[in-house]
Amino acid sequence: MQQTSVISASDENYKEAVSAATELLRAGEVVALPTETVYGLAGNVFDPNAVAKIFAAKERPSFDPLIVHVSSRTELERVAVIPDEIQATVEKLLNAFWPGPLTLILPKHPDVPDLVTSGLNTVAVRQSASKIFRAIGKELGQPLAAPSANRFGRISPTSATAVHKELDGRIPLIIDGGACAEGLESTIIHIAVGEKRPTITILRPGPVTKEMLQNFGKIERPKRPRDGSDVTQPAVAPGMLPSHYAPRTPLILLENAADFRPDRSKKYGLLSYTGEPGKGYTQLYPWAVVEALSPGNGKLPEAALRLFHLLRKLDDAGLDFIVAEPVSEVGLGVAVMDRLRRAASPA
Ligand code: AMP
Ligand code: MG
Repeated sequence: MQQTSVISASDENYKEAVSAATELLRAGEVVALPTETVYGLAGNVFDPNAVAKIFAAKERPSFDPLIVHVSSRTELERVAVIPDEIQATVEKLLNAFWPGPLTLILPKHPDVPDLVTSGLNTVAVRQSASKIFRAIGKELGQPLAAPSANRFGRISPTSATAVHKELDGRIPLIIDGGACAEGLESTIIHIAVGEKRPTITILRPGPVTKEMLQNFGKIERPKRPRDGSDVTQPAVAPGMLPSHYAPRTPLILLENAADFRPDRSKKYGLLSYTGEPGKGYTQLYPWAVVEALSPGNGKLPEAALRLFHLLRKLDDAGLDFIVAEPVSEVGLGVAVMDRLRRAASPA
């Protein structure tokens, strides 16, 4: 066990936060940092020992590769090689969405340690929009490998408190940048040359939606789960294991109210979309607790933002089961339903 410190990245503390994090990263340590999606556990991508510490702290299996975060476009060339035939599409996507929650799968630069990519010949890269994250990356002068700062298979953390619960005693430092603005992990895409237009395969739905990407190419969802061993053939991202983002309390994603057969001796809590009486499942059962993703009118961006926070809250509420209402699968609703389905899969 090690002592885990938390440093706030508030304005008056900003410089101190940047230098404390950078100093540890330079010494080959790992540090939890805020991004606009979820908190990441960062380490210098070119330092295999630091990368190994990320896997160890998360108890992440070595077959699940990490996302690499660059602080500038020039840094992208240190970790990935952009094939000529997709160069123009990549440029357009970066202009439109970087810095932001879009991760690209690209052929890997030989300097990136195999541990980062789990031996794949591709690397997942993004540039975070978080000011503090990028400031630390810039100060370090190295790209950062940074998967979500949770233990493997668990709910991604959207606050420093949630990181603390996940990784206390396992890492030296958490930078507290407040709640994450998006609350869901980045969209992961793979780009290929298509017949008429490039094809964009969405390996993990996220804040950059299908609707936002369709101007840039023909959108495809991965056809069927594979083991991820060859993602140059649009396949599934290894993190798209069926069970992921799971609370400890069993979660039932109730697509049809008629399928609900409660055991009256058990305690059920509801994760509702709006929480409004008369809408969704609020009156289906005398729930022990009701939490609303977007109270009142129901807005998908708010639902996405609050999803992981509320899953954690319900997980801590002493329930036997969490029942989740489905949301409509348009826009951000695709990513929300993706996470709910994974949370509901039996481990
Ligand atoms: P996390 O940052 O914890 O959300 O996880 C990173 C996820 O990015 C992994 O679980 C994979 O789903 C995905 N990923 C990383 N590298 C690759 C790659 N080379 N090909 C496909 N997916 C990747
Ligand atoms: Mg993760």
